[in-house]
Amino acid sequence: MSLFYRSTRDDSVKVTASQAILKGLAPDGGLFVPDSIPALDKSLEELSKMSYKEVAYEVMKLMLDDFTEEELKNCIDRAYDSKFDTEEIAPLVKAEGAYFLELFHGATIAFKDMALSILPHLLTTSAKKNNVKNEIVILTATSGDTGKAALAGFADVPGTKIIVFYPKNGVSPIQEKQMVTQKGANTHVIGIKGNFDDAQTGVKKIFGDKELEKVMNEAGFQFSSANSINIGRLVPQIVYYVYAYSRLLANGEIQKDEKINVVVPTGNFGNILAAFYAKNMGLPINKLICASNENKVLYDFFTTGEYNRNREFVLTTSPSMDILISSNLERLIYRIAGNSAAKNSELMSSLKDTGKYEITSEMKAQLADFYGNYATEAENAGTIKSIYDSCGYVIDTHTSVAATVYNKYKEETKDDTKTVIASTASPYKFTRSVMNAIDSKYDSMGDFELVDELCKISKVKVPQAIEDIRTAPVLHKTVCEVEEMSNEVKKFLGI
Ligand SMILES: *Cc1c(COP(=O)(O)O)cnc(C)c1O
Repeated sequence: MSLFYRSTRDDSVKVTASQAILKGLAPDGGLFVPDSIPALDKSLEELSKMSYKEVAYEVMKLMLDDFTEEELKNCIDRAYDSKFDTEEIAPLVKAEGAYFLELFHGATIAFKDMALSILPHLLTTSAKKNNVKNEIVILTATSGDTGKAALAGFADVPGTKIIVFYPKNGVSPIQEKQMVTQKGANTHVIGIKGNFDDAQTGVKKIFGDKELEKVMNEAGFQFSSANSINIGRLVPQIVYYVYAYSRLLANGEIQKDEKINVVVPTGNFGNILAAFYAKNMGLPINKLICASNENKVLYDFFTTGEYNRNREFVLTTSPSMDILISSNLERLIYRIAGNSAAKNSELMSSLKDTGKYEITSEMKAQLADFYGNYATEAENAGTIKSIYDSCGYVIDTHTSVAATVYNKYKEETKDDTKTVIASTASPYKFTRSVMNAIDSKYDSMGDFELVDELCKISKVKVPQAIEDIRTAPVLHKTVCEVEEMSNEVKKFLGI
């Protein structure tokens, strides 16, 4: 065992991978980062002959090196099974001159399943390894997709409870229906009267409440997180970039060591950070293209070096990216500051106090791997329609942000490097926005009528996740003020 995780805000914190997974967030409010990024120890050609699960093992064993081979393989086997509707787990679809990496074949039809189907196993294994006797309470803020994927992953997992907060008016109708119909006595879903940033900030505050931690501990509970601030979310996300590359190589689409671009529709910066880690593990990636919707705080950051959340929060048709505080960016900031907890803490305090910070020119120079741009609502709808019209392939509103930004990138740079676009959700999850983009005549139809229409035009079978909620009863009706979040947690736990 040689890899340790450190806090982005305090140099003295040093824990193993399993401890980092258990804690979620460092005690000082920082995020855990590996003290170095290990290099892949299998060649890309070897990887190209492996299954998804085998690639997963090769990547994850390096990042989670205090897990035994048996423990890790066991977690992987239990995660990537028939919960996915294809044996490939993450298939690549060639369309419009790019490769769409479909990350939505899991139980809740968004890419969050890629990590959240394994996180419960990583977490319960970590608890065992560290002799934790407390019940683990997963506390999660969601912009729509994490919540359902985490609920599905943790429902009825012994030794765990899960509490999900979502913005009551900030998710799609299907997303909300998926969450409020969740079964499992250990699940609790609450709408808040606020946006995703309010939910995320509220959750972080509960995590930092030392008094509550004491009361929890006495009652036999401890918190952990299913958000992408947990390294147990991030590490499984590295896998599919390596897998995608290995498939392109296996299928003769690229030559050995040929570089590819990766485009990621970005919100909390977790998915694209995983691609950045993949690149640092040795995967031949040229540009990491960060695609934003009209909440374009990251685009502005990459162009100016200033991160500024002081702006209007826009509700868009890609709600899972409606975020002004991209938590995982902190991991990149720490790194480009030369792994300096002091510098990072200074910038994060500034973000907390003034809503903004500016990086130095030395730090900015290290962002050359990244390209940022954004898509307006109109451009986004236009891309869904034009891809459908030209080849019959229907993409969701988040993937469309990525496809739009990729078009802008090509236009601007003339770069013709082969490119993988992370396709983060099934169009069935955002049926109304997707169908409206294709034809305004769908506007008057009901949510499930639209599902059937989408099936007709895309010739893709309606996913089980959608069939399941057609008639499912609503089981979670609580809505609360942001200030009440902590009380709701206490009520559910009976403390
Ligand atoms: C969560 C999510 C995103 C954003 O991913 P981040 O890791 O938060 O940047 C994009 N698309 C969909 C469909 C999502 O659910």
